Amino acid sequence: MELLERLTIIPDRAQQVVVLTGAGISAESGVPIFRGTGSMWEDPLARRLAARAGPPWNTKATWEFYEWRRALVARCEPNTAHRTLVAMESYFTNFCLITQNVDGLHRRAGSKNLLELHGNMWQGRCPSDGALVDLPDTPLSSLPPYHSCGTALRPHVVQFGEPIDPTILSESLKASMRADLFFVIGTSGVVAPARDLPLLALNKGAKVIEINREETVLTPHVTVSIRGKAAEILPRLWNELLEKAGVRDAPKPY
Ligand code: NAD
Repeated sequence: MELLERLTIIPDRAQQVVVLTGAGISAESGVPIFRGTGSMWEDPLARRLAARAGPPWNTKATWEFYEWRRALVARCEPNTAHRTLVAMESYFTNFCLITQNVDGLHRRAGSKNLLELHGNMWQGRCPSDGALVDLPDTPLSSLPPYHSCGTALRPHVVQFGEPIDPTILSESLKASMRADLFFVIGTSGVVAPARDLPLLALNKGAKVIEINREETVLTPHVTVSIRGKAAEILPRLWNELLEKAGVRDAPKPY
């Protein structure tokens, strides 16, 4: 059966569309996920480096772990799922992409209305004054890198137990509450508060569509759950949506 038929989605440009992504959307770009098969912990070097990283997070050891991650992501490219989200953003009048990913691949693909809940590994943050510093090059010339105020920077990545930037969290909650359609793609749904966003949208009457290669803790709650790889399912869904809407001029990301 066609995906759209199953989902009963109306291709209405004026709908509020919200997308929450997790590590799974970057898996086909070659970025390892966090849990389960294909996780970064399958690499003994990642385990060794991560074991030495820790508070106050602006140490050489922490940056050695992040340089390993940054070098890996630098070799990866956004995939068709990232690019389909860019096409969707240009189609829908109200579109918001919320990501738990820190790899920067949504930005590289060209997404604009983007909320990075957990930060971005291509930025450093000054623990003294909170300033964000772009660090686009890897390897860095010194570990740790320093802010112009003389303080060692930490990676701009939210660590377990740390709060989310209140502005980003509040924007994410607002968008989720207004959603007509909510896509939740490639996340295990175990990290709070991200996992609460689709449930909030559902409670406010949104249709929630999950795309994941496996069943998750969110699966029993969502409107429809589609098993498969994001880079295959999402472009197919988008194609069907454009056909149904009779749109010929929309960008095709493949
Ligand atoms: P997770 O590793 O807990 O879950 C990944 C999910 O993606 C799983 O449910 C898995 O079944 C699914 N998946 C794997 N390949 C897929 C594919 N090709 N298509 C669709 N689904 C696929 O990741 P999470 O839920 O994002 O939570 C992990 C945390 O770790 C987040 O906070 C995130 O910041 C961080 N993290 C980020 C990255 C990244 O930036 N790429 C990578 C690893 C971890």
